[in-house]
Amino acid sequence: MSKIKVAELFYSIQGEGRYMGVPSVFLRTFGCNFKCQGFGMPRGELSSEAENIDSSLYNEYKSLPLVSTGCDSYASWDPRFKHLSPLLTCDSIADAIVGTLPHKEWRDEHLVITGGEPLLGWQKQYPDLLRNSKMLGLKEITFETNGTMRLTSEFKEYLLEWLMPHVNYTREITFSVSAKLPCSGESWEDAIKPSVVVDYQRFGYTYLKFVISTDEDLKDAEKAVEEYRDAGFTGPVYIMPVGGVDSVYTLNNRNVAEMAMRKGWRYSDRLQVPLFKNEWGT
Ligand code: SF4
Repeated sequence: MSKIKVAELFYSIQGEGRYMGVPSVFLRTFGCNFKCQGFGMPRGELSSEAENIDSSLYNEYKSLPLVSTGCDSYASWDPRFKHLSPLLTCDSIADAIVGTLPHKEWRDEHLVITGGEPLLGWQKQYPDLLRNSKMLGLKEITFETNGTMRLTSEFKEYLLEWLMPHVNYTREITFSVSAKLPCSGESWEDAIKPSVVVDYQRFGYTYLKFVISTDEDLKDAEKAVEEYRDAGFTGPVYIMPVGGVDSVYTLNNRNVAEMAMRKGWRYSDRLQVPLFKNEWGT
């Protein structure tokens, strides 16, 4: 029986990107290949806010502190918090997912598989989860990825199987690629992988989503988009304000919206911040 280490599983409104406003179940897997300690920090500096949290004081996600700098989902990859992420069988995850739905069956809800980095190591387990009879009726899945992990050939085969037309409905996969610019603290070489993202396009609707704070970030986004386009990326580009907490988010959301208008790119909000204060489980 295959298992996935689950950081969080909850039902909410998708706050970002293409499915903004859509009722969604979020499956947050544990583990990430990045740390993104640069978010919200002056260029070149790294946040130690999450590092200063004493993990032994917490035994559930809901009580964890929010951070205003660095990765806002730090507990989904930091090994110090791994005790909060149980290793669950795919059957029990399917039960729990459907248990969160308002009608206990799939209607208009969509599934978001997020992280951490959800394409890091769990690609092998997703077919078991998605083949579970409880997942019948699910029509749309989004993988929220940082766009650095190649799809395995076995997983590609399975995705094509999942996309086969059904009697009453069609299915759709989306890759929401939040590629990390230098403001994240990650290096360009590690974070910008155009050929990986171009490959996603063969299996689902794929878009880029950059977190932006300053004009310098916008310039980095322009340079990255050029590299993705040169490699054959054809999808839309979103920019989204930095800010996992209200005080940071409201400082630059309008500015980023205006940047998006000037560039002819799409603006993504972070509805979970004004609606739910970005609390864990939202
Ligand atoms: S890629 Fe995402 S989950 Fe991983 S460290 Fe960066 S922001 Fe956090």
